[in-house]
Amino acid sequence: MVNKISKEKLNEKCGVFGVYAPGKSAAKIIFYGLQALQHRGQESAGIAVSDGENILVFKDLGLVSRVFNEQNIAPLQGQIGIGHTRYSASGMNIWKNSQPLYHMFKNESFAIANNGNLTNTNEIRNKLIEKGVKFETNTDTEVIASLIGSSEKDNIEDAIKETVSKIKGCYSILILTKDKIFGIRDPHGFRPLVLGSLDGNYVIASETCALDIIDAKFIREIDPGEIIILDKDGIRSQMVLPVDKISMCIFELIYFARPDSYIYGKNMFAVRYRLGQELAKECPADADIVISVPDSGTPAAIGYSKESKIPYAEGFIKNRYVGRTFIQPEQKTRDISVKLKLNPLRDIIYGKRLVVVDDSIVRGTTSKKIVKMLYDVGARGVHLRITCPPLLYPCYYGVDMARRDEFIANHKTLEDIREFLKVDSLGYLSIDGLVKAVGESKEKFCFACFNGEYPVPVPDNQEFSKHLINKEKRISSNA
Ligand code: SF4
Repeated sequence: MVNKISKEKLNEKCGVFGVYAPGKSAAKIIFYGLQALQHRGQESAGIAVSDGENILVFKDLGLVSRVFNEQNIAPLQGQIGIGHTRYSASGMNIWKNSQPLYHMFKNESFAIANNGNLTNTNEIRNKLIEKGVKFETNTDTEVIASLIGSSEKDNIEDAIKETVSKIKGCYSILILTKDKIFGIRDPHGFRPLVLGSLDGNYVIASETCALDIIDAKFIREIDPGEIIILDKDGIRSQMVLPVDKISMCIFELIYFARPDSYIYGKNMFAVRYRLGQELAKECPADADIVISVPDSGTPAAIGYSKESKIPYAEGFIKNRYVGRTFIQPEQKTRDISVKLKLNPLRDIIYGKRLVVVDDSIVRGTTSKKIVKMLYDVGARGVHLRITCPPLLYPCYYGVDMARRDEFIANHKTLEDIREFLKVDSLGYLSIDGLVKAVGESKEKFCFACFNGEYPVPVPDNQEFSKHLINKEKRISSNA
């Protein structure tokens, strides 16, 4: 049986990257950009390029470095293109669901790549099916592509604008036509999307770390509700969607975005360091050393150490090369999935009282195994500290989470969770502490998985419930 070994973690859906680079090989630039965005999705990778007349797409399941090689990049001739790395939060992990998707508008081809999740997918999909549109995948991205493809507008630019006025939810989209790239960010700005310059030309990427790898310069974030159009005349920007409330996903700052990326002008490592500092203020502990659950807990553990004056130490060695694995049912009850990734440093841990910093607790099963591993190598005490509030509500905006009843904090008190994990103390950072550490107005973020205040209403109709139940079933069958 093939299992995702870290289902306990929250998983981001996708990374997107596009470049308009006359005189250069777009595919090679995109290949490096996608490598920098690999953390946003490891299940498939794809590149679409245009030579000015035709669009060519190559994609497959797997990591960027496994999907692409010199032989299959060479035929991707073209100076403009887009790329995608995928984590399958909606739609199964099969080849035809990988992106970019190739589609037609009248007799013009285009390719599309998206990071997000729509909240009105079923409504649009059903209307299109009634009109005779056939679907090959069960992705939101095909729904967007089909809306564009079935538009009666005269040109693709107007068809795209009409489409984004109809879709709701979370999306950061790149669209490649034979001579243009469109970059579109939803009016709430759930997912990041940034604009950069490369030798006088333009790049669009999910995160700034993808600009750094190709020596592109950061220009600015693409605004919520904005469309950027890149073509031979340069760059055009239009605000096409009304913005009533920006709601960037706070988990981008807590965990998803790479620590060397910048959001709202703030470096993610520095933000997470401050999360650790706030956590030390809110939840102090009497301990000998601070360690992290690597890698995501590390900047916050260093911040916790600085604030608490308890020395920081590396407590685990992480195996960064573990992807999918084959776990036998009888192994599920053992610690194999966690041990494949993390091994505690016995000499550091033995006889010590530890503060252990992690970014979140979903079901609690992984945290429990991690704590047990620490006791097994002689820890004298464990104080677990989490850099966000308890997770209580599922995400409908593209983050693969457990069902509501699977979140441990939904059916256990803080004391019950502490007992379940067998730790001496357990502390979560508050929403106020989170906001203080981030240093931006609370109004700019989505905190729905903590407080249930969904910025884009989740429709309460039967069809949507069915869609969610199916999604939840699929998630639990993977777990
Ligand atoms: S519900 Fe949570 S994970 Fe989803 S967008 Fe909002 S903050 Fe992010």
